[in-house]
Amino acid sequence: SGNEIVTDVVVIGAGPCGLFAVFELGLLDLKCHVIDILDRPGGQCAELYPEKPIYDIPGFPVITGQGLTDNLLAQIAPFSPEFHYSRMVNGLERLEDGSFRLETDAGEVFLAKVVVIAAGGGSFQPKRPPVADIEAYEGKSVFYSVRKMDDFRDQDIVIVGGGDSALDWTLNLQPIARSLTLVHRRDAFRAAPDSVNKMKALVADGKISLLIGQIAGLEGPDGNLERIHFATDAGDVSVPATRLMPFFGLTMKLGPVADWGLELNDNLIVVDTEKFETSVPGIFAIGDINTYPGKLKLILSGFHEAALMAQRAKKIISPDERVIFQYTTSSTKLQKKLGVA
Ligand code: FAD
Repeated sequence: SGNEIVTDVVVIGAGPCGLFAVFELGLLDLKCHVIDILDRPGGQCAELYPEKPIYDIPGFPVITGQGLTDNLLAQIAPFSPEFHYSRMVNGLERLEDGSFRLETDAGEVFLAKVVVIAAGGGSFQPKRPPVADIEAYEGKSVFYSVRKMDDFRDQDIVIVGGGDSALDWTLNLQPIARSLTLVHRRDAFRAAPDSVNKMKALVADGKISLLIGQIAGLEGPDGNLERIHFATDAGDVSVPATRLMPFFGLTMKLGPVADWGLELNDNLIVVDTEKFETSVPGIFAIGDINTYPGKLKLILSGFHEAALMAQRAKKIISPDERVIFQYTTSSTKLQKKLGVA
């Protein structure tokens, strides 16, 4: 069908190692699509410790998780990778010609000659709020991420949570919502102060409602939400709602990686240390998701793994091309690719 995305390489995971893989592959003229479950790049650095300083990135005495992510994005920008956020790679199969077919939980299909698994600690998956029957509403009126803004247009939206995701989506969806209610269990927010101030201004202007309480029940037939009940200090309060976005944090699970027929050891993907290739030729694993004798789960190790992986990926994709080892410092060819010569 015409809906398949055809590319040299699909990188699964936009953590630091997946991002740097785009750089090493790009220097060898290989085009990448990058897929991540999260709605932004950076993996653990952006999701778990954006503001924390990292002290062992070579050449940076100190850099935050978000700072490293921003720098990696700037470094790979010359190669124009295409990012696909808020989708999980579910299916990965090897075709007869040795290339790969990948499928996401949003239904996209990618055809690639090489696959790089940079899935870190596994897939980040949203925690379900403790409310009865929520499964029946998921995917219809309860969403843990936004794939298409249009699914939220002219809806009565309830967002639950007090962190950055809850506040970001409150600010982003307010202009297109019919109504929007932000619900948090207490009147204190963990999100960036700037977002909290913007949210409070919207409340003061009567553009959104803020409710302090806990989710207690969902109402509506066939997965179509109509009303949500909350336990508050003033008793049961119910709000008309056609969309609910709960942000109760994320857990890391190995996820679909376990089902792809790759040799695993203790839930990690076994690779060699010459190419960082898995037990399936053409599928590589770099960063926290892989294991080999002496492995250290450090970002700098993942960067090294990406460089060696890329050499082998190039041989698979362009078997007849001779790759000459070059320095970015002195090669005008490489500098042209980087847009600096
Ligand atoms: P990750 O950062 O885990 O990213 C993997 C990405 O893949 C995730 O975004 C995930 O959503 C995505 N993914 C997984 N499965 C799928 C799928 N099926 N489909 C689509 N997407 C998928 N390391 C250091 O070197 N120095 C430090 O000082 C340091 N401090 C740390 C502090 C904390 C609090 C933590 C938690 C970690 C720290 N680390 C540090 C470890 C470092 O963050 C990891 O080594 C690094 O993030 C691994 O990068 P990665 O790209 O392999 O994976």
